[in-house]
Amino acid sequence: MDQFVLICPEKHFYELSTLIREFFPLCEVLPRRAEGRGGLVLTEDETAGELYDETGKVLYSRRVDETFDNYQGEASKNRAKLVIYRLMADYLEQEGLPWGILTGVRPTKIAYAYLEQGLSVPDIIRILTDHYLLRLDKAVLCAKVAFAERRLMEDQRGEDVSIYVGIPFCPTRCSYCSFISSDSRAFQKYSEAYLTALIKEIREAGPVLSGRRIRSFYMGGGTPTTLEPDQMKRLLSECEAAFHISGLKEVTVEAGRPDTITLEKLQVLKEAGVGRISINPQTMVQETLDRIGRKHTVQQVEEAFALARSLDHFIINMDLILGLEGEGMEEVETTMKAVSRLKPDNLTVHTLAVKRSSRMNEEGDGAKYLKENPLALAELMDRMIRLSADTARSLGLFPYYMYRQKNMAGNFENVGYARAGTEGIYNIEIMEERQSIAAFGAGGVSKVYTPAENRIERVPNVKGIEQYISRIDEMIQRKKEGFCQHDR
Ligand code: SF4
Repeated sequence: MDQFVLICPEKHFYELSTLIREFFPLCEVLPRRAEGRGGLVLTEDETAGELYDETGKVLYSRRVDETFDNYQGEASKNRAKLVIYRLMADYLEQEGLPWGILTGVRPTKIAYAYLEQGLSVPDIIRILTDHYLLRLDKAVLCAKVAFAERRLMEDQRGEDVSIYVGIPFCPTRCSYCSFISSDSRAFQKYSEAYLTALIKEIREAGPVLSGRRIRSFYMGGGTPTTLEPDQMKRLLSECEAAFHISGLKEVTVEAGRPDTITLEKLQVLKEAGVGRISINPQTMVQETLDRIGRKHTVQQVEEAFALARSLDHFIINMDLILGLEGEGMEEVETTMKAVSRLKPDNLTVHTLAVKRSSRMNEEGDGAKYLKENPLALAELMDRMIRLSADTARSLGLFPYYMYRQKNMAGNFENVGYARAGTEGIYNIEIMEERQSIAAFGAGGVSKVYTPAENRIERVPNVKGIEQYISRIDEMIQRKKEGFCQHDR
């Protein structure tokens, strides 16, 4: 289905259209009756709905009498979602969706709030299954992750800040990429000018954070290890001067592409106090790596991993993606076996999300892939996720953070697993939004948190590399104003 009309109270339109897209991935939801389009009408009192076809003929109607008072102040919205959910699942003769009526990016937020109200984990699981209609395994995952997050964030204060530094270069661009990243030609052309601008931003805007406790430091992108060793050294010494990173508990640098990792770069990271790196194969199947444009080999992943391990210093994370085009159970089994041999400390398992800005979507393949038979895809994805969870468990890794995205294959989730004591708190900070993040570099979005109002204000840098370089003074000013305003 390409287009679907939804007639409902305006205040619910966004949430309800997201729920409808969970049944029909990537379909466009229109807010008013359109000629020749089928759709759904929700009654004003939000207790019933009816589905109609392109001619306006009613196909199915459903009334929902369940009422729950335990909806964290969102009873009206959740009640409307319940009606839509029951109607769609019954009409399509589906068992329902694994995440029930939850459509948000951070499902753990709800479980977290119940924990803070003093509810026990079993009680929370019951509410999630009975009121939010989560499948039992998802409710258990959600409650467990919220519990882990709460333990890990115990000492967090609203005035804390974490630092993000973005390096927007990669050797090539992956087909599913929606990040700010440019390939090696851009690197040749801009890396020095970019670094100069970035260092200027760190030097001039960094002092605006003085007086705040810095909780963690994260360098991502892109692929930061695209930088040459001397460039990385220069950048990290600026970060040391501005943020004293060597004294922080958590300092992470993404070394995502194995073809950018060398012993010299790893030594630079180690000497600067970087304790965590990510080596991200996404899959350990060569044909898939070639298809998605990563231009590195499985062997390079294994060699980079062995090299990093040989320094006996880093906590190593590996990112995987389930649902890559052309992959079935066999390919995922191959990847899981390879990962089990390597034994990373952290494993982050993503389910494929087709982002609007990715090459996959622009060229149409991703959209087609997701729209064709979403139920079969969901069933396959479910099996892949179970296998990845079993693999993580067998490696002694436990789920500690998670989030969902729009247009995810099968409407599932991304989960971070870690060996106890190696969890990456930055991953939780970015999701839970209970402190500030100061983001430096092109495309970085700083989040200024006001504890008294539990409110986040976003202060974005421009995305384009050229723009970032030419408008660096404006970026510095924006950041100063964003953080100073809050302090006032
Ligand atoms: S490695 Fe990551 S940031 Fe770089 S192109 Fe691939 S998905 Fe994008």
